[in-house]
Amino acid sequence: MPTEPKMYLNGQIVDYADCKIHAFASVVKYGAGVFEGLRGYWNADAGQLYVFRLREHMERLRYGMKTMRFAQIPSQEELEHAVIEVSRANAIRATTHYRVIAFLDGDDELATTGPTGVVAGAVIRGSSPRAESGMSAMVSSYTRIADNALPPRVKCTANYVNNRAAELEARSAGYESALMLTQEGKLSEATGGCVFLVRKGRLITPDLSSDILESITRETIIELARSKLGLTVEERRVDRSEMTAADEMFACGSGWEVIPITSVGRVPVGDGVPGPATRAIQKTYFDVVHGRTNAHAAWLTPIW
Ligand code: PMP
Repeated sequence: MPTEPKMYLNGQIVDYADCKIHAFASVVKYGAGVFEGLRGYWNADAGQLYVFRLREHMERLRYGMKTMRFAQIPSQEELEHAVIEVSRANAIRATTHYRVIAFLDGDDELATTGPTGVVAGAVIRGSSPRAESGMSAMVSSYTRIADNALPPRVKCTANYVNNRAAELEARSAGYESALMLTQEGKLSEATGGCVFLVRKGRLITPDLSSDILESITRETIIELARSKLGLTVEERRVDRSEMTAADEMFACGSGWEVIPITSVGRVPVGDGVPGPATRAIQKTYFDVVHGRTNAHAAWLTPIW
């Protein structure tokens, strides 16, 4: 799906074709970039586009820049403004996926720390059909990158070498996605989302020390599961063998939303079809992100 024609680059709205940086920028040479993927949800009844958890996404982007020692970190307001500007410049009135990248723009050697560039763009994109059908996954032969090497908590562009390897391996083996294990062999996360298991009505998800991204959707689901669905949620280490004990599994992320995982390594999860807890979580999540309930209005930034 094409990127919308107007993009944001270093404080200005530019045409897609003019959204360029130098080929020798540090982000190209050394992967010195951090990024966010987030969504805006069109609510036709309200005639409103709501960006979901804009503040938290831009906070995470700033955390990433700090951890990667960017000398200049754009303000929270400037980063939020980039997404709002892109929405308005493209007159967006449809459910959208935004990509924001903060990067080191200078042509210098390894220890360069600036200058910082920021780019943002939007793609009109609804939910994946997999949200309905579910997806198959394999356990990747690639180990998840470790916190003391390439911290997965930082959404660094270079980290995604690991995710791509796992994703491409899975697709060439005929699966739809991959799950990765930590160096200790515990369940970590999927290539583009965090993972939950459902066992006897309890939700279980790898804890924040399982070499995962601190996913905003994961946190949202934990809160909604507890407060709206009355479910018990366990954040802990998850053994690989626990997956065949699960009644249901799903992956979650801003782009993926909530996607049932119906098999792992061709072994069906539960009955091999999306289960009732997953469906309840999907419904609650979609109601909240579209602003169909007032309970979490603070999570929504209206554009119009
Ligand atoms: N893990 C990985 C590896 C991801 O790429 C994503 C997508 N950003 C997630 C988890 C989910 O994070 P979030 O809910 O913040 O989008």
